[in-house]
Amino acid sequence: MGKRILLHVCCGPCSTSSVERLIQEGYEPVLFFSDSNIFPYEEFVKRYENLLIVAEHYNLQVILDEWDHEEWLEAVKGHEEDKEHGARCSICFHFNLERTARKAAELGIDEFTTTLTVSRFKNSRKIFSEGEAFEGFREFDFKKKDGFNRSIILSRELGLYRQTWCGCEFSKGERNAP
Ligand code: SF4
Repeated sequence: MGKRILLHVCCGPCSTSSVERLIQEGYEPVLFFSDSNIFPYEEFVKRYENLLIVAEHYNLQVILDEWDHEEWLEAVKGHEEDKEHGARCSICFHFNLERTARKAAELGIDEFTTTLTVSRFKNSRKIFSEGEAFEGFREFDFKKKDGFNRSIILSRELGLYRQTWCGCEFSKGERNAP
């Protein structure tokens, strides 16, 4: 078994090629579904259930964080009207990565990263600049090495649901995820 790394997962499809790459690089990913940004709750559950398919396929542990959407709304307050990729998204990345850093410390896992960089709609540098605030964060640009296309192929193979918007209520209608 490789070295454990806590992988913050935004959804099943993005986890596929990220997990594959981490395993290829000698890691044993522990999957952490922490996505209080997702709205409504039914969508959160649907994305989680699709992650369980991936976890079963690769035989990996999954940890489910609570859905704390009220706290997330408080964090992005004042940025509801921001365009996607603006300040609201940076706050959102920070929010989820902070919870992941806390969970990694709690579990005694030295390193953590996120699947958020798989999306061709997300700027990996912005994600890294939020992650850098936390000890143990590792920069993996999962869209590199054909990661985005690979996630589509693997998602099809596993029959995963692929959503058409990023996640929060403010991104609905923007149709640009993953
Ligand atoms: S659009 Fe996506 S990244 Fe941006 S705030 Fe909403 S859920 Fe978070």
